[in-house]
Amino acid sequence: MSGIWVVLEDRDGRIGRASWEALSAGKRLAELTAKSLNAIVIGSATEPLANEAATMAVAEVARIEHPLLEHYTADAYTIALHQFIQSEQPGYVVFPHTYQVRDFAPALAARISQVLIGDVIGMAEGPVFTRQLMQGRLTGNYRHSGSGPCFISIQTGAFRADAVQTGAAGVTKFEPQIDPGAIRTKPGEPFRGSTQTVDLGSAPLIVSVGRGIKEADNLPLVEELAAALGAELAASRPICDNGWLPMERQVGSSGQTVAPKLYLAVGISGAIQHLVGMKGSQCIVAINKDPEAPIFEVADYGIVGDLFEVVPALTEAIKAAKV
Ligand SMILES: Cc1cc2nc3c(=O)[nH]c(=O)nc-3n(C[C@H](O)[C@H](O)[C@H](O)COP(=O)(O)OP(=O)(O)OC[C@H]3O[C@@H](n4cnc5c(N)ncnc54)[C@H](O)[C@@H]3O)c2cc1C
Repeated sequence: MSGIWVVLEDRDGRIGRASWEALSAGKRLAELTAKSLNAIVIGSATEPLANEAATMAVAEVARIEHPLLEHYTADAYTIALHQFIQSEQPGYVVFPHTYQVRDFAPALAARISQVLIGDVIGMAEGPVFTRQLMQGRLTGNYRHSGSGPCFISIQTGAFRADAVQTGAAGVTKFEPQIDPGAIRTKPGEPFRGSTQTVDLGSAPLIVSVGRGIKEADNLPLVEELAAALGAELAASRPICDNGWLPMERQVGSSGQTVAPKLYLAVGISGAIQHLVGMKGSQCIVAINKDPEAPIFEVADYGIVGDLFEVVPALTEAIKAAKV
């Protein structure tokens, strides 16, 4: 069984951040296993993506290319990757844990009588892969045994995208045989969500509000802070459940997973279901009047105080600093 192959996803013609994070996880795996790190791009015209991937420190970039891979379908991706795996015999296949990957990767793994170790948050000697269980209350360690490639997908925010160094990789092309009759679904329009949809996953700055805000009428307080910082506004679940902010702004196990440079949590207690969605943030600042609030356990900076006093003062200070 040879190398580690990381499957990079096409996000509007570029490689998305979740894929760079998966490559970073692949790099860690390469250090643990002393295997080579390689990348895969998939599509009908993959040259631009392959060229982008080839600027990173990987041994090889494989372009899996076929006209029927122009639009994503689970069947075509599964068939194409299956043939590539049969030909290449990789030791590990690593994916970003995106919706698309969740759609086809378990079927791909099952086709080779393997399982997918999904939503991995860390890895150690062995290699042992760590993933969360029961809404993040427990973590489990998994080791691959037996023959065949090991399939893992990487949770967003668990590995740093910027840990992958630049390089100059060779590019090869793999052309799978795909019978059009084997594709059982018709690709529709790619999912774009409503016009309101925000991609919190790639926001560099986030101000997130919780039940400490007390009522919807008080939201302008945090909106102003977010505007002063140039940050996206996010929320804990009760805020979205109440309809005070749209569901797409919810962070946590049943919302979005985020990993901004700055996550400013305002009046959020830090329940485990919230923490699993934001603990990968580079810098966490929490404002809470309760010094025992669990959010302070993950915070880099904590302000113990009444948000109705702290937030306006902070907003003013930020505005003043910008002048
Ligand atoms: C299956 C399941 C899935 C879930 N998914 C999610 C999820 O995706 N995201 C999520 O967020 N939650 C989720 N939850 C809910 C989660 O368990 C918590 O109930 C929720 O995160 C609490 O939100 P909160 O911190 O805003 O509210 P609270 O827990 O009520 O905390 C409010 C905080 O505000 C502070 N506060 C109050 N007044 C002030 C003030 N004036 N100034 C400063 N601080 C103040 C309080 O000290 C307190 O710490 C889920 C629960 C379950 C069971």
